Amino acid sequence: MANDSDLRFRCEACGYDLRGLPVTENCPECGRPIRSSLPQSHPGSPWQQRPDAIGLLRTVLHVSARPRSTRERLRIGAENRGLKIWSVLLAGGLVMMCIEGPLLIKAILDQNPALIEDSPAAIGLGALATVVIGIEVMVIEMLVSFVLALRGCGRRREVTQACGAHAAAVWPAVFAFAVTANALLALLSARPLSLIDDRELYPVLIVIVVAAACTATIWHTAWLMQAVPRLRHRNHPAAVKK
Ligand SMILES: [Zn+2]
Repeated sequence: MANDSDLRFRCEACGYDLRGLPVTENCPECGRPIRSSLPQSHPGSPWQQRPDAIGLLRTVLHVSARPRSTRERLRIGAENRGLKIWSVLLAGGLVMMCIEGPLLIKAILDQNPALIEDSPAAIGLGALATVVIGIEVMVIEMLVSFVLALRGCGRRREVTQACGAHAAAVWPAVFAFAVTANALLALLSARPLSLIDDRELYPVLIVIVVAAACTATIWHTAWLMQAVPRLRHRNHPAAVKK
């Protein structure tokens, strides 16, 4: 629950208390139009507008390709929680495809169905990856919240919740790249090209998955570190009623 100080209507740029001032004026402290601090001036992320499969994919795209515009659109106090869970599940599924996809490509092109017998292992890897990614997302959020709290700007829980849910959407974006890279490597190693030896292929596929996990960790952390301080004064819809 938002506490009372979170529900003061303030300037989103400087945090000045704007209660009682007409919305047609500018902030007395920084000059920003008061109207632009109204909660309805932010349309919400694609997920906040439409929490379904299309909204999820559009949010993954927006969060990774246009982080600044996503931050600008974010609404505080809107539904976010499902976004984080679906991002983690999607990322786990993509990790599975990072191994399963190349196996399938090679099995078809090399006409060697025995390769797909490794599939149960890939499904186990996907499940394990989902759990690991879920834990990692929670740990990153806790550490970033701790660091920002030390700096005095991670204080509002609703801001960290909204930013946390959206930052987690970088994971499926990164693993979508890894799936594409691994599929291309499988194509290069399969007949008729056979440019990569089978024994070299599998270690490389794993290295790409690990590199993707490291990239997502760094990106997720950076996304949160940037977003939370910038959104720290964003108004909750209940603030304008006060
Ligand atoms: Zn201001």
